[in-house]
Amino acid sequence: MDKKIRVTIWNEYTHEKHMPEVAALYPEGIHGHIKKTLAFDGDLEITLAALDDPNQGLSDELLNNTDVLLWWGHMRHGEVDDGLVGRIRERVYRCGMGFIGLHSAHHSKPFRAIIGCTGDLLWGDEQKEIVWNVNPGHPIAAGIPEHFVFESEEMYGEPFYIAPPDEVVFASWFEHGNIFRSGCCWRRGMGRIFYFQPGHETCPSFYNEHVIRIIDNAIHWAAPCEIGVETPEQCRYFEKLHVNN
Ligand code: ZN
Repeated sequence: MDKKIRVTIWNEYTHEKHMPEVAALYPEGIHGHIKKTLAFDGDLEITLAALDDPNQGLSDELLNNTDVLLWWGHMRHGEVDDGLVGRIRERVYRCGMGFIGLHSAHHSKPFRAIIGCTGDLLWGDEQKEIVWNVNPGHPIAAGIPEHFVFESEEMYGEPFYIAPPDEVVFASWFEHGNIFRSGCCWRRGMGRIFYFQPGHETCPSFYNEHVIRIIDNAIHWAAPCEIGVETPEQCRYFEKLHVNN
């Protein structure tokens, strides 16, 4: 493709610093690990960002030069600046930036603000999970088998309090009987959003070949139609939009 997709992988990056078992699994951080595993895709230009970085990792300049934002957060959701959350939401709605929420991002401020939901769900211990590909014709399911298995993942179960997804791509079965909509798509304003459940910090799920393929597929699906747009004014359709500030 002519222009690369500018991807920013944002990570709270806290478990890796305080839990030896997580540091052993993801020595470069979950964000650093995901970047490394996506290196095969020459269409991507990847930047890493973390909560403890200046501007919580997302300066206006970086945010305005991001086509797709990936988000992993868990124990410090409340520290994320509300102004930043508003800017992320605006960039999705007005510039078409893609947003991909990974695992416990279901409770992150940006995910809740963009989708308009609490993101609450039923929670349980780690157990066996089968991810079913329930929408094999979807671009995010390209190359993914009818199902794949994690010997151990954290149980997330229904009811999952989200706005109804436009499309469900993956649905999961858990060993103790729960089910969960584990891969969901939405459109909001100009933007596309994907949520994907696997990826608990003590589980090696980001080493799974199908997980990496799904994340790569989702980046391409969520990328805005016009890659490289930095401001709403550059968007081809912006002049025709009635925007209330
Ligand atoms: Zn977790």
